[in-house]
Amino acid sequence: GDRAIPVSELLERPSDALRDHAPRHPQIPLPKDIFRPRKNSAGIEFGHRAELDPITAAMQAAPAPQAPPEATPADANRAMETLAKAFPAWRDTPVEDRAAILETAADALEDDRAQLMSILAREAGKTIDDGIAEIREAADFLRYYAAEARRIMVTTPLPGPAGEENVHTLTGRGPFVAIAPWNFPLAIFLGQVAAALATGNTVAAKPAPQTPAIAKAAIDILHKAGVPKDALHLVPGGTETGAALTSHPDTAGVVFTGSTATAKAIQRALAASDGPIVPLIAETGGVNAMIADATALPEQVADDVTASAFRSAGQRCSACRILYVQEDVADRILTMITGAAATLRMGDPLDPATDIGPVIDQPALDRLKAHVAHWQDRLHWQADAPGGLFMPPTILDLRPDDRLTEEIFGPILHVKRYAAADLDKVIEEINATGYGLTFAIHSRIEAKIAKVLGRIEAGNLYVNRNQIGAIVGSQPFGGRGLSGTGPKAGGPLYLTRFVEERVTSTDT
Ligand code: GLU
Repeated sequence: GDRAIPVSELLERPSDALRDHAPRHPQIPLPKDIFRPRKNSAGIEFGHRAELDPITAAMQAAPAPQAPPEATPADANRAMETLAKAFPAWRDTPVEDRAAILETAADALEDDRAQLMSILAREAGKTIDDGIAEIREAADFLRYYAAEARRIMVTTPLPGPAGEENVHTLTGRGPFVAIAPWNFPLAIFLGQVAAALATGNTVAAKPAPQTPAIAKAAIDILHKAGVPKDALHLVPGGTETGAALTSHPDTAGVVFTGSTATAKAIQRALAASDGPIVPLIAETGGVNAMIADATALPEQVADDVTASAFRSAGQRCSACRILYVQEDVADRILTMITGAAATLRMGDPLDPATDIGPVIDQPALDRLKAHVAHWQDRLHWQADAPGGLFMPPTILDLRPDDRLTEEIFGPILHVKRYAAADLDKVIEEINATGYGLTFAIHSRIEAKIAKVLGRIEAGNLYVNRNQIGAIVGSQPFGGRGLSGTGPKAGGPLYLTRFVEERVTSTDT
């Protein structure tokens, strides 16, 4: 039957803070000092804040970020030509050497964390907690892909009839174009670049126009760690520069994280180019839903919704955009969410007491405000904002016929109440968006959880927890449909998307 998960089990779940500092995937060595979990005898983490003090001081003292000059489309073309020339030597560099370089870069990243977190705060509005998480994720990507490249870039003999020898090998494909978003301008940026480099591709790395300085710092670290200058080019710029890269005939592959519209534009550019047919690895947005039924633990739902919808100012593509809550418990849960959200502090990202920093820029803020204005009569609650680029956490209470059909990239939670008998309709409504990135369910009925998970079309599914903060190697991340082409960053199949396979058959 429908075994219920006891409340006691739900309560034993490690808190989000502990999960953030939990040991990594076995393939990834533990990071250093402030990043290392330290627990007292009750298993509670301690000392984290005290260790932050020198980091905070160093961040505040760090010089202002220096943006590199923008690359023109002509610069982009020149970069592609250099990368094409540099490709054979990098492809033929032993995988062990490439992996070791990435590991050296991971160490350097942790050593330089105060400087990097300062850039993340000043250029992208990242809070100290988000900065720490981002350094960790970036280092995890470097170490994980180093380990994965060693694992997969091997020569494999294949069976055949007597007198025939078959051998399977993997190599890089050529110059890869990596186009990164501003919301994880270090972790996703370096993750893309590391995956392409580990597998023997040369790389043109184009950061988002909003975050070139952190990208420059990351590329400098990789060059210093040993990636040849000509095998990795930083190409900062806007749409035209990106178009020059993706339509260049030497482009052997594209890895992109950003909007669905841009992913489709890249697909069109690749189709129209004179070059070969090349793969696109795309991770885009989502209209991510959470379902909470009447058996869910309300405190936990409130905690997880607050984190998923409002942390990082809602500027994660994994963030919870819409909560479907069973009508019987809706008012109670909504009261708890507003209570929890009201405690979040907006402010200077360099202040350790800040929970939520500013949004990325004025156009982003304008779009969010316009969305709330459009649904003014659905406004349920909104925090007081300090002005400037701060978007206050907001809750919109939608009516049954209202539909959320596009990604709203900020701290706005939409809520819909549903009757228990209408769960199937909720599932259909969620799938009908065409997106499929993250999804979460809170329930204590195991059979219901299994049924819902079996029918929801999404890449990352979370049960009785929040739906953000995927960990490299443990929660490989990526969506389907309008949310992406499917490959999972930080997963065991990711690197296979960056390689060319060869089979050599010899008559012996
Ligand atoms: N991997 C991040 C998470 O799980 C989201 C990545 C993104 O926003 O692109 O929260």
